[in-house]
Amino acid sequence: MEKNKQNNKEKRCIICNKPYNYQYDLFGRNCLMKLYTQLDIPNFRLISNKEKHLCNVIAHRNFKFFLSKDKKYALTKNYIALDYLKRMDLKSVDDIKLKLTENIKNISVFKRYTKSMLPIYPLNDFYKIYNDYIDFKNLLNENIKSNNKDFDETILKGFSIIFDANKISMPLYYTTFYEMQYMFWEIVVIGGLLANMKLSAYLMQISLTNSGEYEKEGNVLTIEDEKITKILFENDEFKEKINSLLTDTDINIENKLMRFSEKDLLLSLHDATLNLRANKKENDNWHIDIEILDKYDFTDIKNLKDYVTSTDSIIMSLFSSTLNNFAAISSSYNVIKPFNFVIKITNDDYKIEN
Ligand SMILES: [Zn+2]
Repeated sequence: MEKNKQNNKEKRCIICNKPYNYQYDLFGRNCLMKLYTQLDIPNFRLISNKEKHLCNVIAHRNFKFFLSKDKKYALTKNYIALDYLKRMDLKSVDDIKLKLTENIKNISVFKRYTKSMLPIYPLNDFYKIYNDYIDFKNLLNENIKSNNKDFDETILKGFSIIFDANKISMPLYYTTFYEMQYMFWEIVVIGGLLANMKLSAYLMQISLTNSGEYEKEGNVLTIEDEKITKILFENDEFKEKINSLLTDTDINIENKLMRFSEKDLLLSLHDATLNLRANKKENDNWHIDIEILDKYDFTDIKNLKDYVTSTDSIIMSLFSSTLNNFAAISSSYNVIKPFNFVIKITNDDYKIEN
């Protein structure tokens, strides 16, 4: 802004940050014309100063009259920033929307102009984030509409706009990218790539939603869930492994390393340890107590590639460097959080079926 007021200095559009050289203070010609459309302001040929007219219409819409130029510009900036945010369906920007609305309310002919009336972030940031959001949404919609569950390397790479490690320290980017990354893992990975890998999807969901307290050694999340019991005992490899350990009438196994080759178990439990206590009952069924301990860390799965013989393209995308790179970035954004867990299963009347 300050820069734009000095003559002879290069002026830059506050929306796109591109240089321009004519008399207006804020916007380059292209962005100004786009704003007329975006804000639904009728554009007549007779308007002599289009920038001034835009600011006047915005002031009028907000019932603000007789504003100084500074206040009118501040109002315009808040109004446009708010418009960008309203076009994005993101909960995380609600606070910023509120702040911009407050700013707009505060700007009046009766109040002295201060810089605090301006949006806390440059308009260029709102503009860039809005464009990233639109690209992200389009990419998501294109693939969901075509019911694509096979997000290949090329499609995945398109999402790299929201995986920008350099933006972590910039609050507006951090907030919006965080929410979009969250959507990415939920929709593309859990709903797409992991759609048929129930345990992996379940653990990934926890990785997104837990508060991060189970990352430290010794802090362990206990998972006791009928759904997990069902998933595991519907898995032939898991069932056979447990059954093969029930050789005596009184079993007590501790810290047994477990490795699986079936893709869902391989991805979700890679260096799990098993505790098993089992007693054979009079009816030949078993009382069993199972504990499976592991640390979930999605960035680790790239190390499993050598164990996989599958050429399944979905499995291959999970091991792709792009997805693992995204996982690393989402870990630094704290979107996905590694966690220690123990799955506990108790069955009072377990029957070995052949
Ligand atoms: Zn521009």
